[in-house]
Amino acid sequence: MVKLTEGRGKELFRKYGIPVPNGVTVASAEEAEAVVRSAKVPLPCVVKAQVLVGGRGKGGAVRFASTPEEARAAAAAILGSEFQGEKVREVLLEEKVAIARELYVSFALDRTARLPMLMASAKGGVEIESVDDAQIDRQLIDPFPGLVAYERRRAAKALGLSGPLAADLDRLLAGLYRLFDREDAELVEINPLAVVGEKLLALDAKVSIEDDASFRHPEYATIRDDRTPLEEIAREKEIAFVQLDGNIGVIANGAGLTMATLDVLKEFGGAPGVFLDLGGTDDPKKVSEAFLLMAKAKPRAVFLNIFGGVTKCDTVASGLVAAMGTVPASERFPLVARIRGNNEAEGIAILRAAGITSVPDLRASAQAVVAAAKGTA
Ligand code: GDP
Ligand code: MN
Repeated sequence: MVKLTEGRGKELFRKYGIPVPNGVTVASAEEAEAVVRSAKVPLPCVVKAQVLVGGRGKGGAVRFASTPEEARAAAAAILGSEFQGEKVREVLLEEKVAIARELYVSFALDRTARLPMLMASAKGGVEIESVDDAQIDRQLIDPFPGLVAYERRRAAKALGLSGPLAADLDRLLAGLYRLFDREDAELVEINPLAVVGEKLLALDAKVSIEDDASFRHPEYATIRDDRTPLEEIAREKEIAFVQLDGNIGVIANGAGLTMATLDVLKEFGGAPGVFLDLGGTDDPKKVSEAFLLMAKAKPRAVFLNIFGGVTKCDTVASGLVAAMGTVPASERFPLVARIRGNNEAEGIAILRAAGITSVPDLRASAQAVVAAAKGTA
């Protein structure tokens, strides 16, 4: 899934006739000051971190400035910092507007109904997850006729809009649905959609493009998505590898066993930090590559939980032992293994020769790795 930054999302909004404030994206504090001095962005202005995570308003990543110097200082404070683990490389400067009301509208794919869904709420400006269900109006949209007039009118009513504001919403929703449809989006969200005088203005833009439609949209191919650098390398090597917040590495095979392993670690008070699904490989080299990638994530301890099938126990064991020999001493970590199934005895023998014992019991092995990660083993 390709997530667009707010700035890029708003470029799309302009293309589809959705009103947005005047703004410019810059990558340095000097540029921030310059665009304000040249009046490309009028004062007072808003300075916003261009990151893919939300909650910037609450987290200090949306600031206001009323002089060129303040714009520069705000940009300097935000640029180069990290917001929830994401490095801020760009800021968006926009004219600050006087908000009368903050609303919410979005189109998303409802995968259960297999239809687009329009959500509208008069409780905008806060995360939609925190809004009471009863205060969100939901309409499933039949994609063949597309968004029709009465659906737009119902949304206006749900938002408490009438007169010129309702007319404004009507045009805006038509444009937003067209964007959702033509760009193969899986989500387009405006939060807040602000009432400014007698007009509506999209103050924020969240747009994600469906991966499966990427062949129709080469223009999105160069956009960085939210993968970490290691996840990016893994993707190129076709290794299923995901980084989380904890400190325990998990190597398992098959999505089911991998997820169950994460759950078991959590159950015993552990915090999975990265997991790697070997899937159905039977190539020791591939196992070695995957293991070295895991080492780069610097886990405190690693849990190898394999059920041998297509991926045989001895294949995993020999790939692992080969890779372990090449990890520098300073980067080693305790490893707890549990390998069962196809060629189990051979696998266990290979591990034992390298000084690793396989713990057959799931609880015992999970507890051992949690203790190792906490340094209490
Ligand atoms: P998010 O917190 O990451 O979703 O970032 P938003 O783009 O939604 O901005 C957060 C909040 O900043 C909004 O809900 C507004 O209350 C406020 N904000 C953003 N732009 C303006 C503006 O032009 N004028 C005013 N008064 N507030 C703004
Ligand atoms: Mn927002």
